[in-house]
Amino acid sequence: MSTLASTGHVYLVGAGPGPSDLITLRGWRLLMVCDALVYDHLVDAELIEACQAPIKVYVGKVAGRHAMPQAEINALLVSLAKRESGPRCIVRLKGGDPFVFGRGGEEALACANADVPFEVVPGVTAGTAAAAAAGVPVTHRDLSRGVVFVTGHMSGDGELDLPWDAFAHCGLTLVFFMAVSTADRIGRALIDAGMRSSTPAMIVQEGTTDRQRSLLTTVSDLGESVRRAGIEAPAILVIGKVASLAETLSHAESARRGDVRRSDVWSNSADQSVDRYSIASCSHPHA
Ligand code: SAH
Repeated sequence: MSTLASTGHVYLVGAGPGPSDLITLRGWRLLMVCDALVYDHLVDAELIEACQAPIKVYVGKVAGRHAMPQAEINALLVSLAKRESGPRCIVRLKGGDPFVFGRGGEEALACANADVPFEVVPGVTAGTAAAAAAGVPVTHRDLSRGVVFVTGHMSGDGELDLPWDAFAHCGLTLVFFMAVSTADRIGRALIDAGMRSSTPAMIVQEGTTDRQRSLLTTVSDLGESVRRAGIEAPAILVIGKVASLAETLSHAESARRGDVRRSDVWSNSADQSVDRYSIASCSHPHA
């Protein structure tokens, strides 16, 4: 039996919402030194290629087949960590932040229950990043004093059992994940609960990536807009007054982003031009 000292350490690492350079520095360093990597489909291929771990296990969806069941992923992490002469540093790389709809909590519990040491390395969640990339700040002092992250995924019996009355009247920004196929129902449920039909809604597909598509609509046209534009997962729906800021901010943001392309930043990172980029593009109040 393995003792705690010989047990591998599991790192639940957030890869960010898409592009490889949105992983945290801590996550990147772990990726460079780990000896086992377990990853799924929302993770950029550049990160997987950059990792030199001798063990790499893909547990995501492949065309026509479901992802590995969660219980099997949990068991895999524990068995890798407890394998005699097995990997010492196991990175479980997940899209966005591991604890935001990433089932990272279930994997952390599996490790805790099996006495496997683990650490969570947070990531940039699509819930804020994809919205921002489309010109939507999820909070704003004058428009929204908070944000609610919600799953639009139906439960097994096809129900979307959510507090619609509270959502319709709270005045907070609502960010729905996994909601492409339920967008129509979400829009109708909010209006039935009393939300103004003209409330702005932003749909962002593959936010922050080169393939990003975004669409500003209203809550009453949500389902129709998703259908007409052929929106596909991964996408978020951002509902609330802040969505209207995209009219101004999305243009300003894309103009700024045009200055430095992501690939420039990433490919030059070895000669530290990342630092130059950060300095050049941030207007620091004390600079
Ligand atoms: N842990 C992730 C969420 C995983 S659930 C996070 O923190 O971001 C998967 C859902 O996240 C997708 O169905 C979609 O709703 C959302 N998502 C992930 N990446 C996205 C992206 N680049 N743009 C828009 N939505 C995204």
